Amino acid sequence: MAQGVRFVTGQIKLSVCCGTVNNQCGDQQNKEELQWDIHGVRLLRAILQQESRPMKVLFKNIRVLAGVHDSSPDYVSGAAMADLPVMEDAWLAVEDGLIADYGKMSEWPGISDWRELEVIDAEGKCILPGWCDSHTHLVFAGSRAGEFTDRIRGLTYEQIAAKGGGILNSARLLRDTPEETLVESALQRLNTIMMQGTVAVEIKSGYGLTTESELKMLRVIRRLKELHSLTIQSTLLAAHAIPEHYKANPDAYVDEIITTLLPRVAEEQLADFIDVFCETNYFTVEQMERILEAGAKYGLSAKVHVNQFNAIGAVSAAVKHQALSVDHLEVLTEEDLQALKGTRTMPVGLPGCSLFIRIPYTPARRIIDAGLPLALATDFNPGSAPSGNMNLVNSLACIHMGMLPAEVIQASTLNGAYAMGLSQSHGTITPGKEASFIITRKMQSLDEIPYYFGDNPVEEVWVKGTRVTGLETRGE
Ligand SMILES: [Zn+2]
Repeated sequence: MAQGVRFVTGQIKLSVCCGTVNNQCGDQQNKEELQWDIHGVRLLRAILQQESRPMKVLFKNIRVLAGVHDSSPDYVSGAAMADLPVMEDAWLAVEDGLIADYGKMSEWPGISDWRELEVIDAEGKCILPGWCDSHTHLVFAGSRAGEFTDRIRGLTYEQIAAKGGGILNSARLLRDTPEETLVESALQRLNTIMMQGTVAVEIKSGYGLTTESELKMLRVIRRLKELHSLTIQSTLLAAHAIPEHYKANPDAYVDEIITTLLPRVAEEQLADFIDVFCETNYFTVEQMERILEAGAKYGLSAKVHVNQFNAIGAVSAAVKHQALSVDHLEVLTEEDLQALKGTRTMPVGLPGCSLFIRIPYTPARRIIDAGLPLALATDFNPGSAPSGNMNLVNSLACIHMGMLPAEVIQASTLNGAYAMGLSQSHGTITPGKEASFIITRKMQSLDEIPYYFGDNPVEEVWVKGTRVTGLETRGE
């Protein structure tokens, strides 16, 4: 942890020395050490969070540097998923928020310029790209913990719905909650997932279910993009459930999305992607295709919910519309697998949802063994997956989906980045990409990340070249 803050000619600069680290933190002349008390701690936090951005950081003695690519592919598929490129006993250089270079310690060129340089000794620790969580619904009002206990007590889905549960309950709550409250609660969730290693995240609307409330959700997400240091992608999911007043005529709701909502979303540039919950009793394949076609006219690529409970032909329809990703796939037919072959559509598994509502897991082995890629995401939402913890997702994928640790790491980094249009900037340790990565605690091998399930193997998280603390909105 940081041990000293120093002023340099009126400008605040941070000079951090870890106990075990080489303490040569550059030019220390003419610096005055700040004596910090309780107020100093607050000041230090403010500096760490907002003002401190060392120009150059060098990490040395890294036990394993993972996800190294001199130039990054867009994603990895099939057998290559088990082949995670790593470098043992490595160094990593970061400059101006970007990855500058890396190499073996045995070939380390040494430091010629100490100015504005922070040196960190990562002995015994691993560094890997931060998690890229490509599927969440983490803007929501309240929780649905009541439904959780009702379910444990044995109430059926219908009984819970009759008590006012489900997506429509979340929608009602969201409509009555002010934007600032939604922003505040989502910021706390973002801080939590960031400290668990997530550096980029996609967030969907879908608890609005009216034009005004969907716009409100998307504006909340836009505000989060402005306020939070994580990279955030935004998805319009107005077609999440059929609103009560459209139950008799769902097509009229699809019309409203296409003719009223979409033009306004496009005008205000509120979404990066478009999504539909295509499932029996939700939206039909035909309705999904109409929405995706309309979205494409506004330049919105598709990321869709398909095959969670039933295979109704949504995978091949999504592929036909060049969907960026098809998510869920707990039920997957041979035709679905064939439809995905030779395309650039990323299958996405959401094992947290399978755990929480006790449904089958996405058949990862069939997907990967067919030569296809796979990404993993949390599906963080109040109803079916109230966790944004990618470490747990990785463990579940190993335990329940038969994935190897190397495969889950690639699925949760590079392939996750691709599934939200970020593989140019995220997902690998590649010069020129964002310096957004995880430093683990000391460990023997990367396999320990999913092995210690339910634990947090993350010691530090760096986002855009800055160590983050996650304390911004925790009332400290
Ligand atoms: Zn979802």
